[in-house]
Amino acid sequence: MATKRIAIAGAGLAGCAAAIAARAAGAEVVIYDSARTSKHKVCGEFLTPEIEPVLTSLGLWAEFEGLRPARMSRMRLIFGGRAAESRFETPAYGLSRLALDGLLKRAALASGAVHISERAPADCAILAHGRTQPSNGDRIFGFKAHFTGPVSDAVELYFFDKGYIGVNPVENGLTNVCGLASESLLRDVAFDPDRLTSRLNGRLSNLRRSMNWLTTGPLVYHRTADPSRFLTGDALQFVDPFTGTGMTIALWTGALAGRMAAANESPANFYGQAVQALDRQRAVCALLRRALAWTPASRIAPLIPPAWLYTLTRPKLESR
Ligand SMILES: Cc1cc2nc3c(=O)[nH]c(=O)nc-3n(C[C@H](O)[C@H](O)[C@H](O)COP(=O)(O)OP(=O)(O)OC[C@H]3O[C@@H](n4cnc5c(N)ncnc54)[C@H](O)[C@@H]3O)c2cc1C
Repeated sequence: MATKRIAIAGAGLAGCAAAIAARAAGAEVVIYDSARTSKHKVCGEFLTPEIEPVLTSLGLWAEFEGLRPARMSRMRLIFGGRAAESRFETPAYGLSRLALDGLLKRAALASGAVHISERAPADCAILAHGRTQPSNGDRIFGFKAHFTGPVSDAVELYFFDKGYIGVNPVENGLTNVCGLASESLLRDVAFDPDRLTSRLNGRLSNLRRSMNWLTTGPLVYHRTADPSRFLTGDALQFVDPFTGTGMTIALWTGALAGRMAAANESPANFYGQAVQALDRQRAVCALLRRALAWTPASRIAPLIPPAWLYTLTRPKLESR
């Protein structure tokens, strides 16, 4: 029988996971991405424990640990003057996108996938090209920078009206500060993230920014399906970044699509499995987003125990 040949659009986390899984299933793989090397990306760089089985199934857990990701044992939610905290039963991880994307890219190439440094042609079987949805209204943008200074073992989420900012450790003693804010709020601070982060109750006063702010957007929460192709990662859906699960979902959906495409299974079966794994998280996030749009964050605070938020916004992923 002729070897199956699979073309993938995008060599980010989802595309590389798809390539590794499809290669393991015996397919020939070509990945298209005009970006030649991995780079810093706007991302909270926070990973829930679901990352372990997903990377294990890709044969990459030991290498991930070798990158010495930061470990976190607590979550703090801060709404205005109020803070609530909970401990994690299993540690969460912090690793920069530069390191994680680099790991996946190296592994995809080592598996025998061929990278073509071009925009993807229209007929790729697997789409892993990230977010492309148009946006309007009061648009939302993301920003991120690394800081040096004392490191905490917590992920801290500061919620305010029209945005939130996460502070958490990553590898090499760095702290990642990453936020989301509406265009109107950003306009109030002259599009300067330093002016927004100065509102974090002095949290960054003993930290020093070690890189320029990166920005991205507009961000659109969506779920998209195409019956003739496998949409993976952010091309399939974009959920609220505070869940800390977008990267794991990108790897999981990528690997699932790679395996299923190599086995000639239909995209419809893939979407069926994805919906089952991701729908509860999506519904909880939509509910919370609606609540935050109607009510000031400080009034919702007492209603949201951190442990509840953390549990209900995690996907139910089964890894082979
Ligand atoms: C502000 C913010 C904070 C976040 N925080 C977290 C967090 O803490 N934890 C977490 O797990 N997730 C977080 N996320 C989500 C996470 O970043 C994404 O879910 C993840 O990057 C999705 O990976 P991907 O491979 O689907 O897409 P991407 O990482 O965007 O990769 C897409 C790739 O496709 C390429 N590409 C684009 N167009 C084409 C084309 N036409 N042809 C070929 N290639 C193309 C790009 O160059 C890129 O390499 C956050 C996101 C944002 C915006």
